[in-house]
Amino acid sequence: MKNIESRRTGSRSFLILFSVTLILLITLIGSTFYTMYGVSKENLISLGQDNTSQFEREVLEYFRDGMQIVEVAAARLSLMMRRGAGSGELHSYLVDETDITRKMVNSRYQGLYGVFQGEYLDGLNFVPGKDYVPEERPWYKAAVGNGGSTVLVAPYRDEMTKTDTISISRLLDDRKSVVSMDLSLEEIQKLAERVNDDTIKSLLVLDDQGQVVVHRNPGEVGKNYLQEGHTLWGALAEKLYATKDNAFEVTFDREHYMVYVKELEGGWYVVTMTDEERTFAALEYIYNTSLCILFLVFVAVGVICIKVYHRRLEAEGLNAQLESVASIYISMHLIDVVGDTFSEIRSSRDVSMFMGDRHQNARQSLSVIMDLVTDDQSKNLVAEFIDLDTLDERMGDAHTITQEFQEIKNGWCRGRFVVVDRLPDGTLHHVLWMVELIDEERRSRERLKYLSETDLMTGTRNRGSGEHKIKEMLEYGECGMFCLLDADRFKSINDTYGHGVGDQVIIEIAHCLKRAFRESDIVMRLGGDEFVAFAIGIENETIARKIIGRFFDNIEKIQIPEMGRQKVTVSMGVVLYGKEDDHSFQEIYRRADRCTYRSKKMEGNYVTFYSDEAFKSAGSGTSFD
Ligand code: GH3
Ligand code: MG
Repeated sequence: MKNIESRRTGSRSFLILFSVTLILLITLIGSTFYTMYGVSKENLISLGQDNTSQFEREVLEYFRDGMQIVEVAAARLSLMMRRGAGSGELHSYLVDETDITRKMVNSRYQGLYGVFQGEYLDGLNFVPGKDYVPEERPWYKAAVGNGGSTVLVAPYRDEMTKTDTISISRLLDDRKSVVSMDLSLEEIQKLAERVNDDTIKSLLVLDDQGQVVVHRNPGEVGKNYLQEGHTLWGALAEKLYATKDNAFEVTFDREHYMVYVKELEGGWYVVTMTDEERTFAALEYIYNTSLCILFLVFVAVGVICIKVYHRRLEAEGLNAQLESVASIYISMHLIDVVGDTFSEIRSSRDVSMFMGDRHQNARQSLSVIMDLVTDDQSKNLVAEFIDLDTLDERMGDAHTITQEFQEIKNGWCRGRFVVVDRLPDGTLHHVLWMVELIDEERRSRERLKYLSETDLMTGTRNRGSGEHKIKEMLEYGECGMFCLLDADRFKSINDTYGHGVGDQVIIEIAHCLKRAFRESDIVMRLGGDEFVAFAIGIENETIARKIIGRFFDNIEKIQIPEMGRQKVTVSMGVVLYGKEDDHSFQEIYRRADRCTYRSKKMEGNYVTFYSDEAFKSAGSGTSFD
């Protein structure tokens, strides 16, 4: 019970330990993934911002040269005007600068032009139509509106090229004249279109009024997103101009987008927009896959652990069963017969202490231990039984062999070898050597044997066991004196004094026999008032008569108060069985019976020997009266 209870407690703590470990493991992995997810998300956001910065740099670079050209031209033209230069001089400057810029810097610049002291002059010699009012043009208005600093002018339809163009313009020192230079949108547009990143949904440049200057999708250029209304772009612009944040989220049609913003000079914005779902798709895929894998690992580990747990329970159960089996043995050792090693499974403290770390030399250790614990009487027997060199042969096909012996401390024991395994060629490999305490068992077995072999009333052997023992002696070729005797007129004793007295007479006769014969002789009650005694080794009639005389003397001395002066007498027939004789028990009995019958005819204690000569003569019997 104690074992089962401790096993249950052990299993429970195993389960608790397993669950706690698993939960900790999952928490750890989960939090690691969560952190990784967060870090990766931040990385992706900063990647988006980097993309925007990159585009901003490219846009700025794109404008920078133009702005510098315009700024230099503005300074130069202002100076020229201050020095009183005429329109011809100013025009030729514009022509020269335009030429140099287009040739030396970049052809995307479409030439310097402007309004100088009320007159429109063009470096490309463009002559506008009559209805062309320079002061009404966006580039002029923007420059004036922006005071003295260089301004980027949102796309408008160019009068000369009839294409959408943007301008860089600047108000000159006289606060009326404006110099401007057009920039083709084509290249910057190409720049936006060139960006080849799947996660970027769009890349655009908005001016300060919400107008699209550049867009990855060229069709969007020129639109004003602040007037878009309920569209993704409208939502984007609304949030951008309201918050001016450099990173924010826009949700439209239940789709989430990340928007990264960089503000350019003059209130323009470089904007990149990423599809959040697509941006984080890979990350989510990794995250979800990891979760799935984690779950599968969890299930697998769970299944394995449950299996291990069940195996453990099974093993514990088996162990407990083994232990309960082992508990009937006072010692149990596993012996490698081939390797000559010896390991303890259980043993008495004395043996364990004696053995210590000595596990080699099974043969030597076993004989030393057994010699130590075995009683002198059993020493030879045990030494033979534990001989590992002959064990295989002695075991034959048997699975186990046993030998009972007497141990000094515990009394009767049974030593047992059990085959554990054999080598492929059949040689004995491992055996269990077990010693079982059988003192109690042996005693009860002996008691049973005694009961089954003994005549309970007299304590002599009963008929079966006595007959068996005498037959055994005859088989061994022993000679001896076979005496058959019967109480005289026993019925009348019973009738006169009662059965109790009759019983007493029977017991007394048995005592007389036991006293007259040796311990090693066989005395048995055949039944009723009839006994047999077999004196082993007696074949000489003189000695035989001495023994019988001793017996008759004993009978003489029987005194039973209830019987008063009445004596007990017996009639006996004797067969002396010689070494060379080979008669059966039945024959000997028959002969002895005939002698007894003859003795019955005589008064008092009387014996008749069976000898052909004597038997024939009437006086062969001996009376002891
Ligand atoms: P004989 O001299 O010819 O032997 O005559 P007997 O009266 O002794 O006759 P016998 O030996 O044949 O009688 C044996 C009697 O012993 C028969 C039976 O009643 C009696 N008897 C048998 N077993 C027991 C017993 O256990 N106790 C007692 N008291 N009597 C027994
Ligand atoms: Mg009798």
